[in-house]
Amino acid sequence: KVGEMTQLSIDVLSVGTPYNLKEPHTFDPAKLENVLVNLKVGSILNVGGHAFTIEEWKKVITTIQDIATKKKSSGIPVLYGIDAIHGTNYTMGGTLFPQQLGQASTWNLDLAKSCGEVTAYETRASGIPWSFSPVLDIGRDPRWPRLWETYGEDVHLASEMGKAFIDGMQGDDMSAMNKITSCMKHFLGYSVTLRGKDRTQAWVPERQLREYFMPTFQAAIDQGAATIMINSGEMNGVPVHTNEWVLTDLLRGEMGFEGLAVTDWEDIGYLVTRHKVAKDFKAAIVMAINAGIDMAMVPMDISFPTILKEAVEEGKVPMSRIDESVERILRVKEQLGLFENPYHDFDQYVDFGGEKHRQLALATAEESIIVAKNENNVLPLSDDQKILLVGPNATSLNVLNGGWTGTWQGVDKKYNTPGKMTVLEAMKKKYGANLMTADKGMEASKADLADVIVVCLGETPYTEKPGDINDLDLDDDQIALFNEMEATGKPVVLLLIEGRPRTINSIVDNSDAVVIGFLPGNEGAEAITNVLSGAVNPSGKLPVTYPRYSNDLLTYDYKGTDLIDTTFALNGVRPQWEFGHGLSYTTFSYSGLTATPTANGMDVNVTVSNTGDRTGKEVVQVYVSDLIATITPSAKRLRAFEKIELEPGETKQMTYSISKDDLRFVGRDNTWVFEPGDFLVAVGDQLVEIEL
Ligand code: BGC
Repeated sequence: KVGEMTQLSIDVLSVGTPYNLKEPHTFDPAKLENVLVNLKVGSILNVGGHAFTIEEWKKVITTIQDIATKKKSSGIPVLYGIDAIHGTNYTMGGTLFPQQLGQASTWNLDLAKSCGEVTAYETRASGIPWSFSPVLDIGRDPRWPRLWETYGEDVHLASEMGKAFIDGMQGDDMSAMNKITSCMKHFLGYSVTLRGKDRTQAWVPERQLREYFMPTFQAAIDQGAATIMINSGEMNGVPVHTNEWVLTDLLRGEMGFEGLAVTDWEDIGYLVTRHKVAKDFKAAIVMAINAGIDMAMVPMDISFPTILKEAVEEGKVPMSRIDESVERILRVKEQLGLFENPYHDFDQYVDFGGEKHRQLALATAEESIIVAKNENNVLPLSDDQKILLVGPNATSLNVLNGGWTGTWQGVDKKYNTPGKMTVLEAMKKKYGANLMTADKGMEASKADLADVIVVCLGETPYTEKPGDINDLDLDDDQIALFNEMEATGKPVVLLLIEGRPRTINSIVDNSDAVVIGFLPGNEGAEAITNVLSGAVNPSGKLPVTYPRYSNDLLTYDYKGTDLIDTTFALNGVRPQWEFGHGLSYTTFSYSGLTATPTANGMDVNVTVSNTGDRTGKEVVQVYVSDLIATITPSAKRLRAFEKIELEPGETKQMTYSISKDDLRFVGRDNTWVFEPGDFLVAVGDQLVEIEL
């Protein structure tokens, strides 16, 4: 039983030392025998440092499952887990989608579901039935290096995206050859540290926990998410891995989760070495298991099951706690059909990394690109314009994909998918001789020849701790390059490829257009080119507020006090761009907004028209403000949204039912409450008040 509760990294089965395995990957037969047969370890994770080919995965998975099911006395198959974060990024040639923040920028639930489906298919094609995805932390702090792994700052958008993705990934039958189990993460309160740095202290009041951080997980639980990963950090001075209130009272009691709870990487060990709440590994194990952990992602120390067994024998962990966890683990294995099929036939996955999946990745990337500014219709760029493309992010495929691509940090080019284009390559393909580039330092010398300059800036790949920053402003070198280009007097398009909204207030007013790609993935360059050229009409909308100043970080659902504005204070709300913002090459108009009371809440009706001359997609966003409430109300909250397509001149009548439950908030006693009164409904530029 304690073996089932153990998850080890593939490192401890392999030739070499942890984090430093022999190349190419080779199993060590003695280690395999010890871990799988003697210790009866129930779960393995990760890759040996970088993506494997399908052939390597086939060897890895069949070796492990054959030993587990044939040589181990229990015959229980192993539950293999992997970070398939934006597609099957740890299998060479896997389809790579935009990262979650990019997926959220589409505001398109059908695409989110399809991304879940294809990720499941390609992960199963690699013999793996479990992905540590999606991230359901709410991204409310742009400094945090994992912002791009979230669906952004809004509870409703993130809940809907998460549900759609999990539905696609798990379907109705997780044992199917094209389905896997999701793992919602990182429960609870991971994304809002005081310093904005990964895994540092967080202080989250219960009201905020309930209002902002629990609902995405609750929505996923109700959708049937089968596993959950726990927050590595500490919240209110308590490491979450020891917090029985969070792991048991909330998660199991209130939220009704019956699936498997796995720790994050080494987090029981960190209770000793980082958090300093346990004097040794055994004390840490006792704390975590008693708090409600089912499986330890140990991941390198094979002593875990032995020590846990001792702790049970010494009466420090009740047997009932062990039985409960093992039952949950076995249930997931059963739901995945692992007892019948520890792996499926590897040869049947003919669509792996194929054109059908690429088309979905391209469509998702296209809908994720946000045109934030477009003065004098400098965009789209026409075929006969001479374009100068400069900037560090134009020549790297890795910057389009970000972390969790081939390797953890996503910086090693060796594991890039052959044939995938950088922005420069995609633009060259489209514009041919009209596309010019310049060597670093020589950019201004080419400007004379250009009609327009595209300056491609942003971030290089990172995730987790290595992605921490001390300053949200885009770095000085990049600002200097922009200024040099702008000084030439030519129109300048600022193209940002980044994982969080890096502040650009010193240059933004001097740009003619701004286009943002939140890590659009392998097809990102083609998608960006299609948007720049007008082949695709942009429809991406910001899933986060784009801040204007690095020290003025605020989400769209701010409070009345944030608005206090006097001549002697710097208060007031003036983001660079608002949550939900994004331009199109056509224009939409809204009219006739009404809100009508119903038995259960209200019906909102609005008419949307395409008043321009191009077919385009628009995200109808329904915001409601509670005008007076016993907890200071947010300025507004997104309560419904829908992405629709309209042809030129076309008009659609949209209806949304918003229930009183949707309008609840977490009240003074920390429970959800609906307070009758006046509400303001806003859709587009339309406003209407209603009393409920
Ligand atoms: C990350 C998780 C990830 C896990 C396994 C951790 O460092 O926080 O998000 O799933 O590693 O690779």
